[in-house]
Amino acid sequence: MESVLVVGSGFMGSGIGQLCAQAGYRVHLMDINAAALDKAMAEIQWSLGKLGSKGLLKDSPQTVFERITPEHDLSSAARAQWVIEAALETVDLKLEIFEELDRLASPETPLASNSSFIPPTRIAKATKHPERVLGLHFFGPVPLMRMVEVIKGEKTSPEVFEAGVAFVQSLGHTPIRVQKDIPGFALNRIFSAAFREAVDLVADGVATPDDIDVGMELGYGWNAGPFVIADNSGLDTQVLIGQTMIALGLDNLVSRSDLIASMVKEGRLGRKAGKGFYRYNAEGKRLPWHSDDQK
Ligand code: NAD
Repeated sequence: MESVLVVGSGFMGSGIGQLCAQAGYRVHLMDINAAALDKAMAEIQWSLGKLGSKGLLKDSPQTVFERITPEHDLSSAARAQWVIEAALETVDLKLEIFEELDRLASPETPLASNSSFIPPTRIAKATKHPERVLGLHFFGPVPLMRMVEVIKGEKTSPEVFEAGVAFVQSLGHTPIRVQKDIPGFALNRIFSAAFREAVDLVADGVATPDDIDVGMELGYGWNAGPFVIADNSGLDTQVLIGQTMIALGLDNLVSRSDLIASMVKEGRLGRKAGKGFYRYNAEGKRLPWHSDDQK
């Protein structure tokens, strides 16, 4: 059984680990934060139970769950056939992690980053084997969003790029080939332009988040509006992403308003906190954020 090391067990890392285990890989799920790792394992177990009860798993939830081993360091990189990094969205952290992965993993093992914006070319500079570094940009929630951007860095070998495509297919997801490595790749540049406008419209009092979301769903056929997507991904992550985009020269794709940063200060982090652009009840049902409920 081939093994995959997933670095970071937050919203994305836990989903990537779960998806790999569902596809039959042995998974090492690593995080520097023990509490985050415990939470990830509990959430994966819950999610597998739910998918199993709907008949959406090939194997029993327990069999899939037992394929995942929590890890507190990167040593399993030496035994992994794939490494996927899904830690926080900052350039320096990713450079540090890839430098260590490059030392530990066999030179044939592809090293992928799930970064939302940082080009794999930039990340590969921390390694001695840039030909095995690529981007695998999953969408969240990972088990449900069935496509992945496969990004070719300037030095990624054609073999590693095609191996990335085949790996995504082995997970049952659809690969989208991004042949040229630019910050934000293909799909996040499109989403960010729309999201910047949506945030500015709300900040300027032109329309509410719920009205914009309903409009994008009914008028443009999006299956979720921009604020539903942002709440699901985490508003703290959106703030980090905005800072990283500015550092990468993508200022034109970032809203000028401080709306999201101030929401984060108030603890409105999105779905995971039970409040963001929407409120979420105990069952996780999304409710509009009425002004009466803001206290
Ligand atoms: P998150 O905050 O939920 O999780 C990040 C995890 O990384 C945390 O558990 C943290 O403890 C861990 N971490 C920090 N430093 C680490 C280290 N040195 N080694 C190992 N683990 C470490 O963030 P997320 O939303 O899962 O995002 C992770 C990555 O995926 C980011 O690069 C983000 O841009 C990208 N991404 C996010 C989304 C989204 O919708 N949230 C979508 C696509 C890509």
